Amino acid sequence: MAEFDLIERYFTFEYDFTQASNGSANNKSSQKNKKPKVVKGIGDDCAIFEIPEKYQLVTSTDTLVDGVHFFSDLEPELIAHKALAANVSDLAAMGAKPLAFTLSISLPEVNQDWLKSFSEGLKNASKLFKVPLVGGDTTQGPLNINITAYGSVKKGRLLERNNAEVGDDIWVTGYLGEAAAALELYDKALVQKAALNHSEAELWKALTQPIPPLKFARKLTKLSRCGLDISDGLTADLGHILSKSQCGAKVCVESLPVSEALVNFVGLEQARQYALNGGDDYQLCFTASSKHRNKILNLAERCQINVTRIGKVQDEGLQLNLNGQPFESNRVSWQHFNQ
Ligand code: ADP
Ligand code: MG
Repeated sequence: MAEFDLIERYFTFEYDFTQASNGSANNKSSQKNKKPKVVKGIGDDCAIFEIPEKYQLVTSTDTLVDGVHFFSDLEPELIAHKALAANVSDLAAMGAKPLAFTLSISLPEVNQDWLKSFSEGLKNASKLFKVPLVGGDTTQGPLNINITAYGSVKKGRLLERNNAEVGDDIWVTGYLGEAAAALELYDKALVQKAALNHSEAELWKALTQPIPPLKFARKLTKLSRCGLDISDGLTADLGHILSKSQCGAKVCVESLPVSEALVNFVGLEQARQYALNGGDDYQLCFTASSKHRNKILNLAERCQINVTRIGKVQDEGLQLNLNGQPFESNRVSWQHFNQ
């Protein structure tokens, strides 16, 4: 199969770019409310975006390598979902709205079954996150998937790591630690292909089909200036906020959101360790003034997600407490080239 046929068959999804919430070009009021949009997608040398003056373009890229970021024995549609989710999670982390993404993929061979499943997963995730595939590159080589996501934000409405202020509350979305715990299920799920019980299935889903809180993150930009996504573990990622903002934090370990499924699977003590240090959560950690507490809870309810206040920004250090006593965290988070 030739490269162009492959792109046409598996990576060209139907989108109506004119549907971008822009209204008619001649209408005066819609001129005022112009939103960023994609003008041209796949098929030319470049994709084209239109970014009105009030907005900024944000972009983030991630490479997924077989055996490091995913298991190649996982269904390709799940690999595709995760690749796109990890990228839109970075957009959420800035408070941005997804605009488009590109895919550079290197494939060892043209395996139609694999490509069909991958393409299906990518198309579904693209719909779920409302973000079109507008270009990419296709080459032969070891399986390697790179996605670059583009998003837009109104100027001055970003969530940045350097904006935490002493006295702010620290919050996280969703439940933490599930994906890391699910790695323990690799053998059962993929090698033995045994049935997972209810809790195990929930954890497996968190690992393989994460759904970043995109809508919440966008609306949060009215209530917070500081946040990131938790992809390398809460303590490591919160650490980035603290070093960029030159401050410290106190985290109440008893407040960490651990799901019933996770506690069922590993017990409360280990669940807390996973919540602190496990990777791949794709949830948000953000800081906000305590005056916004109720608004944040209301927003989360409207977006049908869970949010939890887990601590406070302070002058220095990262203090972990369990019911007022110092808590020992026992794992280091994942870093490439560390072994
Ligand atoms: P060029 O040689 O100019 O880089 P290509 O021949 O690589 O262009 O690609 C042709 C068109 O197909 C381009 O619009 C490119 O963005 C798109 N494309 C190539 N590979 C992919 C892919 N894996 N997913 C989506 N679009 C792709
Ligand atoms: Mg090319």
